[in-house]
Amino acid sequence: MEKFTSEIIEQMRNEECDERWDYTFNKIKDYLNIDNREIFPNESDLSLLDNLDKELNDQPDEASDIIEQLAFLGEKTTTLSSSARYFGFVVGSSFPIALQARLLADTWDQNSALYLMSPLASKIEEICEKWMIDLLQFPSTCAMGIVSGSASATILALNAACYKINREERSKIKVVIGEQAHATVFKSLKILGITSKQMVLVPCDEKGKIKVDELPILDDNTIVILQAGNVNGGAYDDFETICKLANEKGAWIHVDGAFGLYAHCCDNLNHLTKGVDLASSWSVDAHKTLNTPYDNGIVLCKDKDIYLESLKAEGSYLVGSNHRDGMSYTNEMSRRARSIELWATLKALGKQGVSDLVYELACKAKYFALELEKIGFDVLNEVVFNQVVVYFKDDETTKKILELINNSGVCFMSSATWQNKFVIRISVSSYKTTYTDIDECLEVIKKICGDIKN
Ligand SMILES: *Cc1c(COP(=O)(O)O)cnc(C)c1O
Repeated sequence: MEKFTSEIIEQMRNEECDERWDYTFNKIKDYLNIDNREIFPNESDLSLLDNLDKELNDQPDEASDIIEQLAFLGEKTTTLSSSARYFGFVVGSSFPIALQARLLADTWDQNSALYLMSPLASKIEEICEKWMIDLLQFPSTCAMGIVSGSASATILALNAACYKINREERSKIKVVIGEQAHATVFKSLKILGITSKQMVLVPCDEKGKIKVDELPILDDNTIVILQAGNVNGGAYDDFETICKLANEKGAWIHVDGAFGLYAHCCDNLNHLTKGVDLASSWSVDAHKTLNTPYDNGIVLCKDKDIYLESLKAEGSYLVGSNHRDGMSYTNEMSRRARSIELWATLKALGKQGVSDLVYELACKAKYFALELEKIGFDVLNEVVFNQVVVYFKDDETTKKILELINNSGVCFMSSATWQNKFVIRISVSSYKTTYTDIDECLEVIKKICGDIKN
């Protein structure tokens, strides 16, 4: 028989790459200290990306060249979305401790599908489940799965809901959902085979909350989907009233709390989430408000048995154990140990730290809104958490101002349609953002608005 040994692979096995490790770590540290370039890369730097578009080489490229090229591209062409002055979408930064834990976990390359593949990942995931439930003061019967983000978390939660309501016939299920639900929630329903005919879209008020008196009649074939944090304005549905109504009828209640559920961990903000613990399932991200690196999302489900049953799969080589087998808690089998950065972040913040983090974000959003009002913006949303929606005179002027703000390179904001207007949407979701950062942005925005008026 042939004992094949590839020269290419042999070289990778034997190469000395200490120097490249040093180089990589230095580049990581350099990147974390970048503070003198545009938040969104400029056109000329972005054109560097065109050079990447080449046929795959037949023979190996030099590894150190590859790392150098990547490091250079990272310096020039990334959006500085983990920086203090990034306010686009709802993105969050990443705490150094979280990134360090992630780097270690990536190095270990553990597969957290089974206990047998990684006892460490299994244990840490189990602890994260306990900690998150404790942090959110949810019933200890909850099951938690760790996935790539709220989009996946929502699919899993709604899958459990469908499974409980009618495991054979999805067409009997009715979904009651706010007209301003997040796009990924509608996508989840589509993936699960729920048609638009099965959905009742409930109108929202001017804040973006479901109008309680427009809810249809609920029953035990119904899934009610609520929001803790409207993606534009940050509004919270009236959980207490709706959950009581829905629970009386035996409906399933899912709460999309991607960034906003953390208000529940903060005494100064938990008036927003009153009654949210009465729901049946929740989706929430670690990579947004909690400031872990991407990607890290969480699904929680009150009925652990139904949740696990809805995901059950068997195979002779999948040796289960009495310990936690991560794959039983998600659709994924092979998966990186996302629990490790979550664990490190929770441990580094403590309950007090999580509460402080979310309260800081909320206070800064309010400050930003008040100062923008002084410059002449209309603040169109009720700033209850970390989202600010602003408007200047008319759609066209607002669009122009946003373009000038983002081109200034000082900060980045995104846009949306809100109450039929083109609006600027600001999300304060980075732990790094200080009042000084906001003041620096305001300075630039004030000048832009002044120039536009003249
Ligand atoms: C971001 C977001 C989602 C989707 O979450 P991912 O983590 O991007 O998958 C869902 N709902 C709301 C309200 C969001 O803000």
